[in-house]
Amino acid sequence: MPNRAAADLTTSIAGHDDESAAHDESAASPRSAALLSRARAVIPGGVNSPVRAFRAVGGIPRFIASASGPWLTDVDGRRYVDLLCSWGPMILGHAHPDVVEAVTRAAARGFSYGTPSENEVLLAEEIVTRVAPVEQVRLVSSGTEATMSAIRLARGFTGRSIIVKFAGCYHGHVDALLAAAGSGVATFALPDSAGIPAEMTAETIVVPYNDLEALATVFARVGDRIAAVITEAAPGNMGVVPPVPGFTAGVRALCSAHGALLISDEVMTGFRCSPAGWYGLEGPYAADPGAVGSGAVAPGVVAPDSGAVDAGAPDLFTFGKVMGGGFPAAAFGGRADIMACLAPEGPVYQAGTLSGNPVAAAAGLATLRGCTPDLYARLHESATTIASAASAALRAEGVAHRVQWAGSMFSIFFREAPVLTYDDARDQDTAAFGRFFHALLRSGVHLPPSAFETWFVSGALDEEALSVILEALPAAARAAAVGG
Ligand SMILES: *Cc1c(COP(=O)(O)O)cnc(C)c1O
Repeated sequence: MPNRAAADLTTSIAGHDDESAAHDESAASPRSAALLSRARAVIPGGVNSPVRAFRAVGGIPRFIASASGPWLTDVDGRRYVDLLCSWGPMILGHAHPDVVEAVTRAAARGFSYGTPSENEVLLAEEIVTRVAPVEQVRLVSSGTEATMSAIRLARGFTGRSIIVKFAGCYHGHVDALLAAAGSGVATFALPDSAGIPAEMTAETIVVPYNDLEALATVFARVGDRIAAVITEAAPGNMGVVPPVPGFTAGVRALCSAHGALLISDEVMTGFRCSPAGWYGLEGPYAADPGAVGSGAVAPGVVAPDSGAVDAGAPDLFTFGKVMGGGFPAAAFGGRADIMACLAPEGPVYQAGTLSGNPVAAAAGLATLRGCTPDLYARLHESATTIASAASAALRAEGVAHRVQWAGSMFSIFFREAPVLTYDDARDQDTAAFGRFFHALLRSGVHLPPSAFETWFVSGALDEEALSVILEALPAAARAAAVGG
């Protein structure tokens, strides 16, 4: 989902507010333009989630009328190959027959009961089976709820209050976590959004991503007050910035040495990077003695109250996106001794009228059942095809760029040097991305409308869809190169 860090949230990128370009766009997409102006009258900015408004690339967001397989069809009747996939959930493609059938069958039995029901158990079992360190999960309705609940649980379990997060990592619009700052300095955070009193982020510390020394410094200073470190398992909300080798292991070791919990936010990576998400690719995060540098944390040191689960595993995970199959379903889970602190068993309150909704759970379950080894192989193949063609096209036009990966998630940064931190990610040619984005859109390819987002592939990408992308890339690369 949207990277709501400050720079990206509040500014529109210079060069894209071009009046005549906006005018051409409305002429080309009259029904989207008309709906947008009606929407603006009754919905702030015309959208129900800010990044949909195209502020980072300019122009008019396409109102989608229907979607099937790899295709989006807008209200003007134009078709787009979908590389947005609803920001991740639509891993099987749109309206997959198995999911449609599961949802239809569930809906015919009623939409919500306010009592326990079987689909919740099946979905929880599917998650627990796939991700080994997760012993129990609780279902919620959005990734935001999952991370909000996970940090409350971590605070309740440890009796401590400080949460450490990394700049550029997005964990939903939770007050305490909307402090990405990206300052590159480890310090107590200032809120990124109006409406969040400084008190709400006063117990949040932001550290540069991939910087174990900075984290070690924070632990050395206030380690006994840190309830948890929360991290995207492999960040995809500042573009794709995977952890450098040993980073997550070092984070794990620091948390263990100081009795803090590690919360791995797999809302985006979960069930997308592998059957067990990013954890399935990189976990368990074994402690590496060399990784922590002068922070000097003894490897393998485990906090006295940590349970029997592998010391290299995160204590808590959060999930969303793919596991809801396009419906509002998300989850947080992990060690059973920690999860036992949740109401009704324990003192940490958490609840939801629609939590574990039977129709959403049916969609999630059918989607996860479609996430087979064969699907992951196809995702990887499509992503490789698209990324290498995009890279070749940009190279041919002399456009500085760099592709970064996390499983089949990838993004293209419009700069050459490696991107390890949020500051790196922001140091790119976003105007070139805007031209590239719009050229692709005109040719029938819908990317995420920001240079700071992951490109998502689905198992529905077929030869026709791939060839539309491959044919569109050379002209898009040319557009990125010129007009700057
Ligand atoms: C999308 C996302 C969230 C927030 O999920 P919502 O369902 O949009 O509330 C949290 N964390 C990560 C890593 C995400 O990508």
